[in-house]
Amino acid sequence: MPELPEVETIRRHLAPRVEGRVLHRLEILDARWTAPEDPRAVEDQLAGRLIERLGRRGKYLVATFDGDAHLLMHLRMTGTLLYDPPLGNGPDAAPAHGRVRFTLDEGRRLVFIDPRRFGTGRLLHGDRQLEQYLAVRLGLDPLGPAFTAAALKAMARGRVAPVKAFLLDQRRIAGVGNIYADEALFRARIHPLRPAGRLSLGQWRDLRDAVVEALEAGLAAGGATIDDYRTPEGVQGSFQNEFLVHTRAGEACPECGRAIVKLRAAGRGTYVCERCQPRPRAPRRPVVSTWGS
Ligand SMILES: [Zn+2]
Repeated sequence: MPELPEVETIRRHLAPRVEGRVLHRLEILDARWTAPEDPRAVEDQLAGRLIERLGRRGKYLVATFDGDAHLLMHLRMTGTLLYDPPLGNGPDAAPAHGRVRFTLDEGRRLVFIDPRRFGTGRLLHGDRQLEQYLAVRLGLDPLGPAFTAAALKAMARGRVAPVKAFLLDQRRIAGVGNIYADEALFRARIHPLRPAGRLSLGQWRDLRDAVVEALEAGLAAGGATIDDYRTPEGVQGSFQNEFLVHTRAGEACPECGRAIVKLRAAGRGTYVCERCQPRPRAPRRPVVSTWGS
């Protein structure tokens, strides 16, 4: 699933090609993309408008049109946005799973490909509606100034859920997913099953820096391609070649050489070096008497 570095890579590639252009035609071929809103209504409201800006909030791409209309696109599991892909039936052709087509005024196309069809497009009007929509869905931007160890520690206070679940919760930190959570926890030498509320300020400092470093390394590599992610030119990212632990079960830890293990945390396959990231001590179990049972 594309995370912040993948979505931001797509944004950086597309922004110079779409900003300042008029959306000549919008074809939403799969009504599920805009559900419950009628796709024809979204097409009618956006066709002919100038694309002023392509931004990103968490894992959302936000296309802002003249008249203060915002189209929020989420790629979810398998969404990709391809710029002017070849059309037809070849292996690289777009229409097979094309759910949405944007035709720009100079004739170039942008195609939203999405084999599993979980991606979404949502039209919002005005900055206020946009901010209200995002406020309940997105927490701190990990590349922004408010992403501090103190803020994280305050948010985690009293939380007994594993720190990995905390990192994955978009309402707390916007943009971190399974890949970057594993990489950051390894860099910070924190076990993913540690209760978030038990981390010290020093550990939050390490983890905060590790999240930023992992995301920046991902950005520098053009994102990570494990399944479907591609840049708008159809090129794979290369960050998967630089993973320290993610997907590397059985391989040697780059720090200590012990085998990396895969376990389950926050319901997700999670990769850890249990020497560099020691397991939290199990809470002492109360002695249960079997008398009288
Ligand atoms: Zn290790």
